[in-house]
Amino acid sequence: MKKGKLIYEGKAKKLYQTDNPGLVIQEFKDDATAFDATKRGTITDKGVCNNKISTHLFGVLETQGIPTHFVRLLNEREMLVQRLEIIPVEVTIRNVVAGGMAKSLGLQEGKELHSPILEYHYKNDALHDPLFNEYHILAMELATEEELKTIAKYSFEVNRILLEFFDQCGLKLVDFKLEFGRHKDKILLGDEISPDTCRLWDKTTNKKLDKDRFRRDLGDIEEAYQEVLKRVCERSRV
Ligand code: 5GP
Repeated sequence: MKKGKLIYEGKAKKLYQTDNPGLVIQEFKDDATAFDATKRGTITDKGVCNNKISTHLFGVLETQGIPTHFVRLLNEREMLVQRLEIIPVEVTIRNVVAGGMAKSLGLQEGKELHSPILEYHYKNDALHDPLFNEYHILAMELATEEELKTIAKYSFEVNRILLEFFDQCGLKLVDFKLEFGRHKDKILLGDEISPDTCRLWDKTTNKKLDKDRFRRDLGDIEEAYQEVLKRVCERSRV
């Protein structure tokens, strides 16, 4: 697969054209940002870990019927993915109170929720990804009613599958963010699923093993990403 021109560079990934117009190369960087990129840093080998973790998780989801953009792993930092028309909506699923929800609703971080919460955020850095709802999405014509139904259904299914998978890795899936896109007439799960986009706590100690270690200056950041990769690989071999 020939690597072509850079199409897009985001905070944590780059996308490159290939000789097939329907396929792109997604490259994972070590750059880390938080709080609308006002905090910046590098996490050594984060890109390698996130590429491998996402590969495993997309594989798990595909075998359980969730269509994703993942095609195949190319090398340590790159995967081949289907080209998507990204829907500018970030879907957050929460199982435990943390982060933005603890802050906005004044709730205690760590409280288990009675049932999972699905939130939509408008994917717009300049506006700080504001929380909005399905009425906004329909009125702004970002997605159709049918597309949104599919997105919500897939998101809850992803939660069910990953809750069980991470539990078997000794990890609590606190919350995570998903992005979807259109490919031909289908909705596919895009982006990545990694400690950059999920909150993962050790099941017994509640130690944070995700990007909150960078956001909150908790130290042992590289070790946390390596630990998640190790557990995901061990679980995938079973
Ligand atoms: P919160 O809304 O509490 O800040 O984030 C909820 C979950 O979604 C966390 O797991 C967080 O990592 C993920 N998330 C939300 N927005 C973003 C984003 O813009 N970038 C990344 N990497 N993760 C996000």
